[in-house]
Amino acid sequence: MAAYKTTCCYCGVGCGIVVHQDRQGKIQVEGDKDHPVNRGMLCSKGMNLHYTVMDTSDRLHYPEMRYNRHLPRQRVSWDQALDRTAAVFTQLIQQYGPDAVAFYASGQCLTEEYYVVNKLIKGFIGSNNIDTNSRLCMSSAVAAYKLALGEDSVPGAYDDLELADCIFVAGANPAWCHPILWRRVEAAKAANPDLKIIVSDPRVTQSCATADLHLQIHPGTDIVLHHAIGRILIEQGHVDPSFIRDHTDGFQQYRDIVMERSIASAADICDIPAAAIYEAATMIGNASGFMTLWTMGLNQSVVGVRKNLSLINLNLITGQIGKPGAGPFSLTGQPNAMGGREVGGLSNLLPAHRVLDNPAHRKEVEEFWGGVPLSEKPGLTATEMFTALNDGKLKAIWIMCTNPLVSLPDARLAEAALKKAKFVVVQEISNRPETLQYADVILPAAAWTEKEGTMTNAERRISYLQKLTTPPGEALPDAEIICRFARKMGFHGFDYENAAAIYAEHCRLTAGTNIDVSGLNYTTLQEKRSVQWPYPQGAKDYGTPRLFTDHSFYTKTGKAMIHSFPDGNNSTPPDPELPLILTTGRIRDQWHTMSKTGKVSKLKQHIPAPLLEIHPEDAAERDIKADDIAEVFNDNGNVRVKVQISSNIKKGVVFLPMHWGKTLNSDLNRANNLTHTLVDPISKQPDLKYSAVQVQRYQKP
Ligand code: SF4
Repeated sequence: MAAYKTTCCYCGVGCGIVVHQDRQGKIQVEGDKDHPVNRGMLCSKGMNLHYTVMDTSDRLHYPEMRYNRHLPRQRVSWDQALDRTAAVFTQLIQQYGPDAVAFYASGQCLTEEYYVVNKLIKGFIGSNNIDTNSRLCMSSAVAAYKLALGEDSVPGAYDDLELADCIFVAGANPAWCHPILWRRVEAAKAANPDLKIIVSDPRVTQSCATADLHLQIHPGTDIVLHHAIGRILIEQGHVDPSFIRDHTDGFQQYRDIVMERSIASAADICDIPAAAIYEAATMIGNASGFMTLWTMGLNQSVVGVRKNLSLINLNLITGQIGKPGAGPFSLTGQPNAMGGREVGGLSNLLPAHRVLDNPAHRKEVEEFWGGVPLSEKPGLTATEMFTALNDGKLKAIWIMCTNPLVSLPDARLAEAALKKAKFVVVQEISNRPETLQYADVILPAAAWTEKEGTMTNAERRISYLQKLTTPPGEALPDAEIICRFARKMGFHGFDYENAAAIYAEHCRLTAGTNIDVSGLNYTTLQEKRSVQWPYPQGAKDYGTPRLFTDHSFYTKTGKAMIHSFPDGNNSTPPDPELPLILTTGRIRDQWHTMSKTGKVSKLKQHIPAPLLEIHPEDAAERDIKADDIAEVFNDNGNVRVKVQISSNIKKGVVFLPMHWGKTLNSDLNRANNLTHTLVDPISKQPDLKYSAVQVQRYQKP
């Protein structure tokens, strides 16, 4: 049996995997014992990855196309599919301008794929209409890093988790969503009982089992909590005055604003004891190494950027950044959300963290690519694309490796938008995603192990993924599909010899920037397996584990910015007709919209169907009993699922998993029927964790 090393394609932890392949091509996987991230461990999803590769029964083998929405799609050749797509795109661009078309991609795309699609739309079509499902995931953290530290830069490394003596997990359930990272935290806690772990979450999650303190806050009150902790740290002298003086701006305004609210008032709003806030602040204040970890509970909010900043402020006022065992650390949901940002694959970004509204940055990229002048107008973000399709302003959309009919907020609105679109291209690996039903053209893509490329995990670690198996039928790597299409459009600069050549071009474009990887290439990555950026020319070892060790930040002043703002939440509040707050999220064994994990029977055993988690008192008030079917509804839509009555959820709050979509006849499993399209004004990330709903027992008519 031959053994090859690669990287897990699910979450942002980025575990190393050894793939064993027998002579018949059958594969098995195990954790890579030598990999610095997982040290041989794999979670349930990673352990079952080989099933998703070996079972090709649902794979798309050939391009398909239809000339008319009333006709079925038919198998066509690649030339037919791409010629027609190029003709439609060209006609729409000529008639309505370059902003008439858009690409909606995914944090699961490889860096090379992201690079070429971003180059195509921005550098050659002349529009910034590219966004990805990372907009639903990380954009609030990205905006907050830029505002606080000057650039989208995760300061630390996973190794810091074992060096910290206090870890504050806010709005995250890493035990289920970042399992291998959490196992490292659990091991660190077992080895060091003095390591204090604080979790804030409206639900009692699996992560709380390891915590010393669970702050079961009311949804949307994170900023109140973080400000209150900040106030206590100031009052008890746990801040770092010299760090604040020499390396930050904005402390005085921050001090003034956190002093406005008493701890009693904060406790009342958060619905937790004041003593618990003091206890958290004491744990943080006494720590010599303090880390904050967070994810969607902070990011997916209408005040997501402020929630992020209020947490990062706790690291800044205590000087807990740029040193071992310290720092703010956003946990990335997807395996390559960070790689996508490195190449500028969002509607407001340019490659290597250059920014769209900087004329010098646009010029640099324009000259490098040698295409059309770059537009300074920001492109449409994820939710804006579907609103624009609905309004008729956007005519065509190309969806790569994502399933917006399940993952976007207000999914019925997204569905109506795809019905209205003049032309929909879907580039996918399997026939499972619900979005395919609206495709005029389907392009079959190669899956994990069927293509080579790179990904960057949550700690800035770039990993190389090797091609190990052959794609079924005529499926092609995503980058090759985009390059073939670009050539059909008549654009030069897309005739790469291989994925290594695309990566080399990306690396050259990063030279001299803060994320410089100009010293990197496939040979180095194949030899070292993974390195952490930056990795400039002449870099040695394994890159840069920690940023800001000299306390010099990427802002204009070189100082980190402590931001101040009111502590309110701007979500649409509950009312007597919609009195409960719905929060949505992941479960342990499923990934996103289940297009891969949904076909692995072992992974269905944990939670086989969606359940509405509801507090016993809320259930009793509605005469709902265990295993009843509940109807959850609001102005956007409804969901009908079994209930799970549980005191693990706060009274007044209900939870639905986000994975399930439509079945043949029904969309009543889909949590996003109920979420709304409110977004954070800066990050444009949707408010997926806070929707007012009502619940009633469902009785069959
Ligand atoms: Fe894959 Fe994430 Fe599990 Fe690691 S923790 S095996 S990267 S899904």
